Amino acid sequence: MSDITTVNPATGEEIATYSRLSREEACAAVDKCHAAFEQWRLRSLDDRAQVIKNLGKALRDHKEELARLMTEEVGKLIGDSRDEVELCAAICDYTAANGPRELADEQRDPNNAGRGIVTYSPIGVIYGVQPWNFPAYQVIRYAIANLMTGNGVVLKHASNCTGSGLKIAEIFAEGGLPENLFTVLVIDHDTSDAIVEHDKVRGVTLTGSDGAGKHIAEAAGKVLKPLVLELGSNDAYLVLEDTDIDKAAEVCARARLYNNGQTCINGKRFIVTDKVYDAFLEKFVAKFEATRIGDPLAEDSDMGPMARRDLREDVQKQVDQSVEKGARIACGGEIPDGPGAFYPATVLVDVAPGQPAYDDEIFGPVASVIRAKNDEDAMRLANDSRYGLGGGILCGDTDRAIELAKTHFDTGMVFINTYGVADPSMPFGGVKNSGYGREHGGFGIKEFANAKAIFVG
Ligand code: NAP
Repeated sequence: MSDITTVNPATGEEIATYSRLSREEACAAVDKCHAAFEQWRLRSLDDRAQVIKNLGKALRDHKEELARLMTEEVGKLIGDSRDEVELCAAICDYTAANGPRELADEQRDPNNAGRGIVTYSPIGVIYGVQPWNFPAYQVIRYAIANLMTGNGVVLKHASNCTGSGLKIAEIFAEGGLPENLFTVLVIDHDTSDAIVEHDKVRGVTLTGSDGAGKHIAEAAGKVLKPLVLELGSNDAYLVLEDTDIDKAAEVCARARLYNNGQTCINGKRFIVTDKVYDAFLEKFVAKFEATRIGDPLAEDSDMGPMARRDLREDVQKQVDQSVEKGARIACGGEIPDGPGAFYPATVLVDVAPGQPAYDDEIFGPVASVIRAKNDEDAMRLANDSRYGLGGGILCGDTDRAIELAKTHFDTGMVFINTYGVADPSMPFGGVKNSGYGREHGGFGIKEFANAKAIFVG
């Protein structure tokens, strides 16, 4: 069993080395989490909510420390890391304020019995496998919802942000979470399969690529465990004929480059109507060229490095293959010299079916620009994807865009004149190959709850 060594992607320097748990050690940790769950499930909803509120405070108290570690491990801009910790604390606040109402018993009036009660019971230990792109948010998003439900939580974090996962566990302990109720397992993929199979694990959730999703879905399917999958996407942003081009270029550039171009709901395909194509492209490329790429700890950088050098190689391969198949590079597209995993803000044009830039997700700062004949054609192209996580509409007439979002977009989220954001009160998740299930709000809290029917005669 090899150790994990984390590496700062801005400098290429090693940060820390962690030993992985053996299968036996990891399974024993799940047993302890289950024992903690048996106590936690007995606590009242208000009591659990109070503990969660305290975790939000603890996260704020450690904001700077956690933000810095995340930036060192994955290269996020330090300002974005601080915002991420704030979002995590806001999720705790929202869940503490709304969780008891979401989980309150519901009274029913069944036809054949005197009285009906629907009660939401926890189901046990929930195993989460999480990615590195939001080292704190991805964890908090499922962990807090499940703690509110009354479940126990075990985590396998992405190897390159192992330190952030362990830091969150420390912060939770300081915030007063009972011991073992949230447990970080530093494990490899084989041991992960054993955790999915562990009889005390009653639900599994993965956020990551569709490849990892298929693997986990198969493992969970074999043992009939309920599953939530939050996977990748190739989100389309439509630039319609009546849009304000300056604003559209700004929103679209931000939509693509935010978080160093490594967000599931980053805009990736920009589908621009013929009427406004040339004007949009000129301003869009200018924004990419003006992006200041540098040290993610420096407050004046607009973009840091990608999270790992191997991920950068993958992006370069996809760009090269797209160019071989007819795409053109409007800016960027070449790996710079020097240490670290930096990649330039890149715009590809003449993007068409059969190219990775059209068919697949590019998880890095590369925008694919596609010309549409008109608004109808743009909508058709948007849905021409195996993915369905998010998407955007840049337009003048927002009422029309809301109608389009409701009736035409085959995605879990639509952003009108804005770019991908997450909010604790709004459902988060996708359709098609982007996964299934929802996180946030009452949706996330009830994903792994047993909606139990009690009939009273
Ligand atoms: P990834 O390679 O799929 O890794 C995600 C997590 O899965 C990591 O913890 C990884 O562990 C683990 N993993 C991968 N293969 C596994 C296996 N066979 N068995 C057990 N665990 C396995 O994805 P990533 O590169 O970290 O993240 C980028 C992807 O996530 C993109 O596709 C992005 O769109 C998607 N994403 C989706 C959402 C959403 O909410 N829908 C949010 C963020 C990201 P190791 O690190 O140890 O390999």
